[in-house]
Amino acid sequence: MNKADNLYKPKKEDLKEYRKVHSLSKSTYVKGKQCAKMLYLNKHKPKLKKAVSKQTEVLFTFGKKFETDFRSKFEESIHLTEVLGNQFHLYAGLTEELLETPEPKNIFEAGVFYNEVLVLTDVLQQNEDGSYIVYEVKYTNKLKPVVMWDLALQYYVCKNKLKNLQSFNVVMIGKKGKFKINNMTHLLEKQMESVAVEIEEYKKILKQEKAPEIKIGSQCFRPYKCQFFDYCRL
Ligand code: SF4
Repeated sequence: MNKADNLYKPKKEDLKEYRKVHSLSKSTYVKGKQCAKMLYLNKHKPKLKKAVSKQTEVLFTFGKKFETDFRSKFEESIHLTEVLGNQFHLYAGLTEELLETPEPKNIFEAGVFYNEVLVLTDVLQQNEDGSYIVYEVKYTNKLKPVVMWDLALQYYVCKNKLKNLQSFNVVMIGKKGKFKINNMTHLLEKQMESVAVEIEEYKKILKQEKAPEIKIGSQCFRPYKCQFFDYCRL
């Protein structure tokens, strides 16, 4: 726990008031971008999913360390994972409560909820003047399409929900392993409309009675090998 954890400590009995149920998240939106059938199966047939590869797990561990190193630069911080664990339906409500107090603070894994979409931002900085800065940490040195999908969704939710969003930044691997911070605000602003359309489309797909009929193809491997591949190829 960091210094500012004493800014707010929710009581166990208050947590149920923070409940918000989402239809989409960053990871499910990215699934929808890759393949509509994957999006559907992930919700309705999760048991058919194969575990991720060892290589993906290793990359995930490196990514977590990179994120932790970046976060260590922030004082007065609250790490919501340490408070809520995997109770994802409570993150946005608790974040809203924390942001109601005007003290500057940094929230790690801050939940932001808009239009049935929940995103957890790596660092949400609340400034003295009431404005916000978001930092999303990516363990990569390139803005690959999948990174842009993820950022576009997060920006859409943050821009609509946090009325005074000063900037939205991506933190990547720079020279000599240093952090490279790019302000993505203007670029992502241009994608707001297309993201809104896709969100509505994905919500409809999730409500269908059957999975969309999609044949095996190049989408099964890009950007990630699909965890439903063994099921689909039968
Ligand atoms: S295996 Fe291919 S077709 Fe099947 S859900 Fe995955 S990406 Fe879609």
